[in-house]
Amino acid sequence: MQRSRNKITTIRKAGFRRAAFLLLPSFLLLSGLLLASCETVPAEKTRTVFALNTVISVTYYDGKDREAVDRALASLAEYERIFSRTDPESELSALNASTNIAVPVSEDLFTVMKTAWQISEWTDGAFDCTLGGISDLYDFTGTHRVPSDEELEELLAHTGYEKVVLDEENRTVTKLDAGLKIDLGAIAKGYVADRMKEELMNAGVKRAILNLGGNVLLIGDKYGASGQQFSSSPQKGLFAIGIRDPESETPLATLYLADYSLVTSGTYERCFYAENVLYHHILDARTGRPVRNGLLSVSVVSSDSMTADALSTACFVLGEEKSKELLLRFSEVRVIFVNEEKQIRKIE
Ligand code: ADP
Ligand code: MG
Repeated sequence: MQRSRNKITTIRKAGFRRAAFLLLPSFLLLSGLLLASCETVPAEKTRTVFALNTVISVTYYDGKDREAVDRALASLAEYERIFSRTDPESELSALNASTNIAVPVSEDLFTVMKTAWQISEWTDGAFDCTLGGISDLYDFTGTHRVPSDEELEELLAHTGYEKVVLDEENRTVTKLDAGLKIDLGAIAKGYVADRMKEELMNAGVKRAILNLGGNVLLIGDKYGASGQQFSSSPQKGLFAIGIRDPESETPLATLYLADYSLVTSGTYERCFYAENVLYHHILDARTGRPVRNGLLSVSVVSSDSMTADALSTACFVLGEEKSKELLLRFSEVRVIFVNEEKQIRKIE
């Protein structure tokens, strides 16, 4: 009988510099926590790459799946050519360079934008994928700087989801403002995760953990049984996924899931301190400043990762009360709000 290899996968939205940390100590330190349940599950193997500006890994259990996993990871390059904001040759960059012309776009780009723009309408612009210019001012992934009020004011004039027109029939997008920069960072990783899962399942993969910089998406349960399952206590066969405490290796909460996606948006990713003030990457569309509403993180469990990704950001910017109205539109999502005191509240 093979020894149990249970572990908790702590959700960590990591930059590349954290890759080693992601792969080694957190898994090892946490791996002891669930050994008591003593299940017999084949040893897992993990393949990791850096893409879409983050660390992406697939954990799989069946040796025969290795090729399919490698192919799925290789296909990330295709999605980078669509969604990347840093690659000047990407489809998104070409769209961002256009003004007042209907640009034909790929199905992938249109699908993501359509969902994002729908959520912008539903949140009255609190979720807004046109804040790219403002994000750039903070240079979160580079030198870090605090923009002046004047800079923010100037760029805020070139934001607003209503300045971008989506034409579904002709599958075109028209940007009405030359200075506006579309940034799909709040949703694209979820979409790519869904496509990867589809690809892996089509190749016969029955159990796996996809982790796109903290966007977790599961295939099956640990035994390869299909069907979505959720539990707040350990259950045989379910994957244990921790919600990260940025100050500790012990997760704030652990969910036990099969086949679901769990995505977290938090203030502790892509952030920096200046004069003891935290500047993080989730922005208030009205002011261009980081959202300060007492939340540390928002996690969303959903059957698809695009919804979980978009909603984690949207619910973060809305806060718990205002999220309730938005969440009425989504059946079967669970949302976990963690405030700065690390108190946890759930909407199910
Ligand atoms: P991560 O990039 O860590 O996965 P999120 O999914 O929460 O985190 O998305 C945050 C990203 O979304 C930011 O880095 C930025 O690109 C973009 N963004 C920031 N504020 C907003 C907002 N109010 N609405 C939509 N997108 C936003
Ligand atoms: Mg998101």
